[in-house]
Amino acid sequence: MTSPDDTADLRRRQAPLEMTPDAFRQAGHELVDALGDFLEALPRGPLNHEATPKAVRGRLPAGALPENGHDPRALLRETHRLLVDGSLFNGHPRFFGYITSSAAPIGALADLLAGCINANMGAWELSPVASEIESQAVRWIGDLLGFPVGAGTLVSGGNMANLTAFLAARHARAEPELRTRGVQHERGRLLAYASEEVHTWIHKAVDIAGLGTDSLRLIPTRADLSIDVDALHDRLRADRDLGERPFLLVGTAGTVSTGAVDPLAELADVAREHDLWFHVDGAYGALAAVVPELQPLLEGLSAADSVAVDPHKWLYAPLEAGCVIVRDPEALRRAFSHQPSYYRFSGTEEDPPINYYEHGLQNSRGFRALKVWLGLRQAGRSGYRRMIADDVRLAQELHRLVEAAPELETGPRSLSITTFRYVPTALAGKGPSAEKELNELNEALLARLNSGGEAYLSNAVVRERFLLRACVCNFRTSLADIEALPGIVLRLGKELRP
Ligand SMILES: *Cc1c(COP(=O)(O)O)cnc(C)c1O
Repeated sequence: MTSPDDTADLRRRQAPLEMTPDAFRQAGHELVDALGDFLEALPRGPLNHEATPKAVRGRLPAGALPENGHDPRALLRETHRLLVDGSLFNGHPRFFGYITSSAAPIGALADLLAGCINANMGAWELSPVASEIESQAVRWIGDLLGFPVGAGTLVSGGNMANLTAFLAARHARAEPELRTRGVQHERGRLLAYASEEVHTWIHKAVDIAGLGTDSLRLIPTRADLSIDVDALHDRLRADRDLGERPFLLVGTAGTVSTGAVDPLAELADVAREHDLWFHVDGAYGALAAVVPELQPLLEGLSAADSVAVDPHKWLYAPLEAGCVIVRDPEALRRAFSHQPSYYRFSGTEEDPPINYYEHGLQNSRGFRALKVWLGLRQAGRSGYRRMIADDVRLAQELHRLVEAAPELETGPRSLSITTFRYVPTALAGKGPSAEKELNELNEALLARLNSGGEAYLSNAVVRERFLLRACVCNFRTSLADIEALPGIVLRLGKELRP
């Protein structure tokens, strides 16, 4: 037994992680000031610093975890420098890689606020106001898309949003004993259909869902890289004739490579005809629906059974935030709800609470909704309409500039993605014999560009051509940044191959 003396420290506990309110204020003010300086300097500085894994690792504290801790204020000061000197800044106005947006500053402040409240978004009772905020954010995202929200939830990103929808679709279309017996193949295999340009989430999904990658039907694309609907019809008929069970059709609203949008209205018809769950992967492009001129491109989106969309792309939320929305209000709960004896969260029938652990794969969940909700409120519908429309216009400007530039050749473009490549005069018009050299040249050019810190692009491979790819998902990019890009690319290109 412990004597009273032994418990004195437990009465006046001094936990190594606690901070006094004053220490918190001081460290916090200092950090916010430093971050204000960072944001101020960001547009003028380099995008990144040339770095190797070994060199970067060498800047971290060496050795095992120290036995004793450190002063938090000094740690934050030191870590701020570490990150500012060792990061790639996707918030820089000349970052055009992948689909990674500049992050809204209010989102960073929201994360600080959310971290202090630390709501557990698994159950309403543990996060009353936060759960209502998430539910409102999802409804508002549905409004922006013109999609009827039956149910929805925020997840970590597009992969999780698509996977969540995939699992809901599997549950809705497999036999009723799916949960108890798992996937059955006696009445034919469950098959999923998408274009060859579909994002790689679907390979993980068919694998994890127990269907296997053989259950994935990748349909060829047309010249504009959208799904070939005739080929889709043919494949569906052939699979049905073989006794298989097509269950899911995925349309992509903005492919990662070139921003191609599948003909969603046509796909909705195909899905109806063949009784398929129609899912739209709009992780990147679905939010273009807020721009009236782009709406026709996304016609048919509202007919889907589910949609995935990434607030950390075109809502400019800091990572991570994805969103899945389903039309049927019960589709998520049917796929994910289990009721353990240790939860008593059902509330009253007249005013039932939303318990997010029933709507997806996670149990304990963070308050990522706050950064999304505050961004939506800061910019409003008109703010997003303008930012997204401007991103698209800037990508179109880049296309025009590339077209006008000697020794640059345009590739496919859609939404806010423009592709192009460097074709020096010596290799122009040489036909297939020069293609290999052009691919190697542009690959080397991209590597040089991305390590140089002046601008950052990624690539697309379209019908075996290696293309440079700029995606403007960046509210800091201005026309001057776009105008500078062809010159930078040409200069580096000529250094490699005059
Ligand atoms: C970005 C993207 C994904 C993957 O989303 P993450 O947020 O990176 O997980 C899936 N599909 C499309 C079309 C995307 O653009």
